[in-house]
Amino acid sequence: MVSIVVREPRALEVESANVPEPKADEVVVKVRRAGICGSDVHILHGSNPFAVYPRVIGHEFAGEVFSVGAAITGIKVGDRVVVDPVLSCGDCYPCRIGRSNVCANLQVMGVHCDGGFRDYVAVPASVKPYVAKAPARLLPIWFELSEACGGPSVLRRLVANLKK
Ligand SMILES: [Zn+2]
Ligand SMILES: [Zn+2]
Repeated sequence: MVSIVVREPRALEVESANVPEPKADEVVVKVRRAGICGSDVHILHGSNPFAVYPRVIGHEFAGEVFSVGAAITGIKVGDRVVVDPVLSCGDCYPCRIGRSNVCANLQVMGVHCDGGFRDYVAVPASVKPYVAKAPARLLPIWFELSEACGGPSVLRRLVANLKK
């Protein structure tokens, strides 16, 4: 598979990599669309203080579930999904009071760890729903949701409102 890597500031490379195998709590997503954000450009230019190199960039992405780990329930191969790239620990004080967006151990896929500018990405999905299914009636805007920062949380709110 293809993987887009910033090796070091101003060195963007297209590399080949192996398709990941999902761990028990992961879903492997076949990426169909990814947005290019200002943060990606800052990582390329070396002006993002949180980026560690080399880094597969891309934190706004959507696709289809390609494979699932043994502990995954509720998500199956072929589901269309949007990925929340903000990974939180679940243990620190902000996480315990429901503010996982300011987790003390926050990791953003595509910034602190590898992101979505590649054909297949393994994403944790059993503990917190980092992978949100796109319902059929939202499919016309499915890809666009991945192109806005916070797309997955917007999607979750839309889905919650649809259920009312
Ligand atoms: Zn962004
Ligand atoms: Zn935390």
